[in-house]
Amino acid sequence: MKNKIITIDGPSGTGKSTVAKEVAKKLGFCYLDTGALYRGAALAIDLKGSNIDDDSRCREILSSTTIKLIKDKIFVNGKDVSSEIRSPRISNLASRIAVHSSVREYLVEIQRSSSLSCSVVAEGRDTGSVVFPNADVKIYLDASLNERARRRHKELISKGINIGFDQVLEEIQERDHRDKTRGVAPLVVSENAIVVNTTQMSIKEVISRVLKIIKDNLAFASWDDGILE
Ligand code: C5P
Repeated sequence: MKNKIITIDGPSGTGKSTVAKEVAKKLGFCYLDTGALYRGAALAIDLKGSNIDDDSRCREILSSTTIKLIKDKIFVNGKDVSSEIRSPRISNLASRIAVHSSVREYLVEIQRSSSLSCSVVAEGRDTGSVVFPNADVKIYLDASLNERARRRHKELISKGINIGFDQVLEEIQERDHRDKTRGVAPLVVSENAIVVNTTQMSIKEVISRVLKIIKDNLAFASWDDGILE
């Protein structure tokens, strides 16, 4: 049977990672965190002290870097950098290298190859529009800017990162702008994507809604309704 592909795109703070991870677990699919690849690449380039805005230099560094996603951990040159890549600095650098076409081409190949061995739930900005345009189900999560900043701020504080709400809001706004206006693979609601506005929803409600959408749109040989609980 052909591997299934579910894509979940949207701006940061919409709950994509938590939802995609949980949905993948419930369905027994692999979870593909494409943002972690951009973050891992940004970290590798940053460690070399290179100019992050130079497309060909970034690509050159990546050609001698190994980036691997194993379950929900990311390894750069064999080192587990899963926590390190979650800092506000790397969030910013990741969105800056994400505008480079050669960086995107390199990372898209890694993303596509991960769907060869298992069914996947992929999440990011362009997984439905560019990486997997023929995905079986495409979902776009959205939420108001204020709510997304509130969630992100709470998450950073819980990790011990001392940052003000206004700074988080400003950084999200800046990343949104860069992600939506870049020339290559901008963040868009891709064709056939089902939009879910999560502003007023708990994470549990979003997970249930997404599972219901998948159930209604994906032909399953056997579907256990216990999954929806
Ligand atoms: O999703 P996350 O916040 O981890 O992504 C970090 C950055 O990587 C995003 O702000 C975006 O600029 C970039 N990204 C992207 N395309 C993806 C996933 C992430 O451009 N598919």
